[in-house]
Amino acid sequence: MLLRIFLASLVPLALAATNEQPEPGTPVANGLPPPPSPLLLVSFDGFRADYLQQFHMPNLELLYRGGVLVEQLTNVFTTKTFPNHYSLVTGLYAESHGILASRMYDAASNKTFSLGGHEKDPFWWNQAEPLWLTALDSNYSTAAAMWPGSDVAIRNRTPTHFLPYDTSVPFAERLANVSRWLKGSEQEKGAMFAALYWEEPDRTGHKFGPDNNTAMAKALKEVDDHVGLLVSELRRAGLWGLVNVLVTSDHGMAQCSAQRLIRLDDCLDPSNYTLVDLAPLTALIPTQDPDMVFSLLANCHPNMTAYKKEAIPDRLHYRNNPRVQPIILLADEGWLIIQRGDKLLTLGNHGYDNNLPSMHPFLAASGPGFRQGFRTAGLSSVDVYPLMCHLLGVPPAPNNGSLARARPLLLSGEGPADVALVACVVVGVLLLLTSVTCLFGLRKPRGSRGPVPFQRLQLEEDDDELLLD
Ligand SMILES: [Zn+2]
Repeated sequence: MLLRIFLASLVPLALAATNEQPEPGTPVANGLPPPPSPLLLVSFDGFRADYLQQFHMPNLELLYRGGVLVEQLTNVFTTKTFPNHYSLVTGLYAESHGILASRMYDAASNKTFSLGGHEKDPFWWNQAEPLWLTALDSNYSTAAAMWPGSDVAIRNRTPTHFLPYDTSVPFAERLANVSRWLKGSEQEKGAMFAALYWEEPDRTGHKFGPDNNTAMAKALKEVDDHVGLLVSELRRAGLWGLVNVLVTSDHGMAQCSAQRLIRLDDCLDPSNYTLVDLAPLTALIPTQDPDMVFSLLANCHPNMTAYKKEAIPDRLHYRNNPRVQPIILLADEGWLIIQRGDKLLTLGNHGYDNNLPSMHPFLAASGPGFRQGFRTAGLSSVDVYPLMCHLLGVPPAPNNGSLARARPLLLSGEGPADVALVACVVVGVLLLLTSVTCLFGLRKPRGSRGPVPFQRLQLEEDDDELLLD
């Protein structure tokens, strides 16, 4: 009897340690899970994390003051638009989802990928399944406005609603569609997941460089106005406060200069290689002796690192895919690789090492699933996917992210210390239960087993189980 009293006293302790409050998708006392809240994922392309400190953005500040802010989101390599937007909605590194760059070549099929070219060929996207498709399997309706890949029939499916990519469609029009899709109608249920993409401040960052305060202030004022419009549109539609809103970006931006150009022609004749991509990250296929070509490139410039495919560092997660070329060249921050000449085509660029703070975006979120006024220094962009799946109650596909790392952002989220405490308490309870069961099993005759107490006290399924890496 004393043992039973002791065990019963452990239950409230364990529950208190989780700081339990019902959250969307979490089973509650009556056994019925509350319906999850819809989720809107918004990306402003090329929004470098420290723009938040450099420029006044009242609407964005209001959003994260009432929610959460991740000051720097460590994105995936290469720090380009397509790879990172696909990572956000799959939780995969580029080597695992197959969208490795803005320009790619697949030797087996002899296909090429380039923006404004063949980017809508599902072949390039089929190595992964984005959330707007996975959520369909939970009987949800999904939507996307211009998010990279959302107008492609990936594995023969598209989101329920989408807009074909068109740069001329203004933000307000994209937003109006998203709002309508989320709201639904008498005839059609509202979308549970929607993604919205906007091209700025990337465009201005490329054209003027991130160090141009006047140009960046103007572009970021416009972005902040768009955030204000987003909130007021969701309010107008009666969705604000009901929808979990995540505002983020794909990468940052570095200042470039005509004094920081690396000319490949200074080191080797172009007849030695076939060029696949030329950016801060250059990809090429040697046409002559590969060791000779590599040696010339490796010694070409002190601000450029050459890697043979097999020696690309593990931390970049950029090696295990046939679409990675035999040699890649990576420029130091602010340097650009060109073939010849001295023309600087862009004052700002990205695609550099994803360790660099200048390449990192941020993440702000607000809504019923998030804490209020919470701020944290960092998170990985691959963690956003399991976080979104959790909020939606959608079983995640195998991914490289971790819900445990993102959990502190959640209203009912417990930090790692709390998780450890709960685990200790639960293990203790289970050990005691086992002892009690054995004891009663020995004393009681067969067939007289009572109900097992504390059945609902179970650890959540390990969210890292699906880790690929
Ligand atoms: Zn860009």
